[in-house]
Amino acid sequence: MDLSFSEEQVALAQTAREFSRKEVIPKAAHYDETGEFPREIFKKAWETGLMNVEVPEAYGGLGGTCLDNCLVQEEVAFGCAGINTSLSASSLAATPLLIAGDEAQKKKYLGKLTSEFCFAAYCCSEPDAGSDVAGMRTRVTRHGDDYVLNGQKRWITNGGVADFYTVFATFDPAMKHKGIACFVVDANTPGVKAGRKENKMGHRASNTTDVIFEDVKIPKSALLGSEDGGFKIAMKTFDKSRPWIAASAAGVIRRALEESRNYSLERRTFGVPIASHQAIQFMLADMAIAYESTRLLTHKAAWLVDKGDFTSVVSAYAKTYGADAAMRVTVDAVQIFGGYGYTKEYPVEKLMRDAKLLQIYEGTSQIQRVVIARNILGGK
Ligand SMILES: Cc1cc2nc3c(=O)[nH]c(=O)nc-3n(C[C@H](O)[C@H](O)[C@H](O)COP(=O)(O)OP(=O)(O)OC[C@H]3O[C@@H](n4cnc5c(N)ncnc54)[C@H](O)[C@@H]3O)c2cc1C
Repeated sequence: MDLSFSEEQVALAQTAREFSRKEVIPKAAHYDETGEFPREIFKKAWETGLMNVEVPEAYGGLGGTCLDNCLVQEEVAFGCAGINTSLSASSLAATPLLIAGDEAQKKKYLGKLTSEFCFAAYCCSEPDAGSDVAGMRTRVTRHGDDYVLNGQKRWITNGGVADFYTVFATFDPAMKHKGIACFVVDANTPGVKAGRKENKMGHRASNTTDVIFEDVKIPKSALLGSEDGGFKIAMKTFDKSRPWIAASAAGVIRRALEESRNYSLERRTFGVPIASHQAIQFMLADMAIAYESTRLLTHKAAWLVDKGDFTSVVSAYAKTYGADAAMRVTVDAVQIFGGYGYTKEYPVEKLMRDAKLLQIYEGTSQIQRVVIARNILGGK
């Protein structure tokens, strides 16, 4: 594994870093407080080329790699993990198209993402099926040459702002993973509607809603891949996207470390800066170790994805380690700030709230451990 970056990667990370410092950090607290959707920030990210990083050049994208996307997402999440969540949700929705889309589907939908400022959303989870993807109940039925969708998706990032959705549905819940297919559906198709916006603990700048399908007629051309291929598409998508969550964790950890370092050099107790106390120094040291380890695992997972080696287990290592480390580190950051850390005057309580989601979405930390344990035990 080559740990050096190309000139283009250094430049891309630098662009994302400047964008985060200039456009995201100054406004992050406002959008966190109000829960408004920061459309103007996303518009600038789109114009700067920070959305749709992995869309191939043939469809107007940057043609970047998973590692390129991780470099961007670490920087944006350093500024605001919630803004990064909505930014990366379009990439998440685009991934099934990259995996299984035919030329016409890619041209239409990936081309739309790059030629117009718009969002997409990935509709997999349901009110009663999050971890248990194969337990989904959204139904698809054949109707002549068309399909009809009925059901309800929950926790859909960009659900209320997307122009199109990639949607997983089952021909028959009893068939479990073998019955699931994936479709691309325009948001303005009759019968598709977004539910109310969730009022969340963190990632408040991202838009999260239900997406409801009521007798939604879609053409045959909306099917991605084969009628029994949806579950595999969902799993492959997670292999590719879990390194992004780990990269987001790296951004949150680096921000917590930077804020904690600066504060500990200023804040004095017992006549000395708190950075002089070994208890504080050790927390800072642990944060630095967590950052380096998360970043290394993230880059290894992304490197494997870019080689075409879909190793679910390494993506799971990176996501679990990064998310759990971000949670630990941000709790320590609040501790270093003492009482001030518990207020909205400083950014560390937001980091702690934002870190929590990293352990939940795109497969909880427990589900990642299920994947890892299965790999260790060889399915026994
Ligand atoms: C803000 C936000 C944004 C999201 N964005 C999207 C999105 O864009 N698209 C999308 O499709 N989904 C999205 N999700 C959904 C997310 O992926 C699910 O919430 C997640 O997979 C967990 O599912 P659940 O909430 O149903 O929890 P459950 O599956 O009900 O799990 C509850 C608890 O049980 C544990 N558990 C479950 N099964 C096992 C097991 N076998 N072994 C051990 N422990 C287990 C879990 O780890 C968890 O602690 C989002 C969620 C949130 C909160």
